[in-house]
Amino acid sequence: MLMFRLKLHWQILIALGLALLAGIITGPDSGLFGIRFYDVYNFIGTLFLNALKMIIVPLIISSIVVGIAGVGGVEGLGRLGGKTFLYYMATSLLAILTGLFLVNLIAPGIIDGQPAQLVLGLDSQQAAIAVEKVGARGVGDIADVFLSMLPPNIVAAAAAGQMLGLIVFSLLFGFFMTRIPDKYSESQLTFWQGIYHTMMNITEFIMKFAPLGVFGLVAKVIAGIQPEQLGGMASSLGLFFLTVLLALATHALITLPLILKLLGRVNPVRQYVAMAPALLTAFSTASSSATLPLTMDCVEKNAGVSNRTSSFVLPLGATVNMDGTALYECVAAIFIAQAYGIELSIVTQFVIVLVALLTSIGVAGIPAASLVAITIILGTIGLPLEALGMILAVDRILDMFRTSVNVFSDSCGAVIIARQEGEQGILGN
Ligand code: ASP
Repeated sequence: MLMFRLKLHWQILIALGLALLAGIITGPDSGLFGIRFYDVYNFIGTLFLNALKMIIVPLIISSIVVGIAGVGGVEGLGRLGGKTFLYYMATSLLAILTGLFLVNLIAPGIIDGQPAQLVLGLDSQQAAIAVEKVGARGVGDIADVFLSMLPPNIVAAAAAGQMLGLIVFSLLFGFFMTRIPDKYSESQLTFWQGIYHTMMNITEFIMKFAPLGVFGLVAKVIAGIQPEQLGGMASSLGLFFLTVLLALATHALITLPLILKLLGRVNPVRQYVAMAPALLTAFSTASSSATLPLTMDCVEKNAGVSNRTSSFVLPLGATVNMDGTALYECVAAIFIAQAYGIELSIVTQFVIVLVALLTSIGVAGIPAASLVAITIILGTIGLPLEALGMILAVDRILDMFRTSVNVFSDSCGAVIIARQEGEQGILGN
């Protein structure tokens, strides 16, 4: 019973520790009465993920509609939209540049002056899996990303989880809803507010199960780790892993807190504590979309940001603002080039930065979404797609870290923009 008296983030942390132990002890194959533990973990984790995903569509639509309606006209929207856009672009760019700097400095793709490809001995089977998983992509796919902003069928977009299309539709809906006669717009607003609050209540209910869900998700990942993957970690892949972690840590522990302090004038430590349940859920689910309900709850209830700001900034951020993803794409592409012994000119590196920025806007907040974006970069700079096989072994674990950074940056954006908009009472300020 003591477990239930602890704060949610402690409960989740304990669940994480237990999951680590359980995953190591049981491995992928052991079971009881013919039922594999791995399947049990998978079942629990998927239940939790499904519960979160279930509320995403109504939550995104209602929160954006209510948010836009609350911003008050073209001028307010322009101001809030401008600040949000600026924050998202600037932080993503800073993240990419951090990655660019560190991957050039550490050069994980080069071992003893030799391209690591020779050492890593790219496994052709893994390469085939990688290609099958993501399919061939190229520069043209960047255009597709932006085409999906205007979905021809909004129901199909919602069913396919195309959040960008859903967001654009909701933005338009919220904006034009305020321009119809009062008697209609008022009842519309009440209707959407009702949906929004109901969704947030369901979120709080689902959050109670977060420790259990996190246990299932993480135990499954740990139990499923193959011994060969650990072997790979010892080589240059381990250095790549560390480079990504170092870059992510620099962004989340230095850059973002500095921005938070300078622009938001709030204590970053308080922000970590306020966001802990969402960050741990992002870590476990590796999906910023699925974490969105918790992100909104923590930003409003724990950090004290108004519903007006959070309901505009956060749904947008969960899809558009992915600092960790952008950083990872850049580090991975340059690592692959190094491992293949390809010198990248300044211009090519600039192209990588640009494509990483654009694709991080377009990719969905779902697990392994970066892999798709990386194939776009590889296609753009002319590297073989099979190279993706090299990073597959460590991608899942890195996904957990980069998703937490994605969510943390969104939450910092909400706090900073709220402060800039003159909101009081945020994180004790
Ligand atoms: N899993 C990440 C997210 O949901 C996206 C990615 O980088 O793969 O934010």
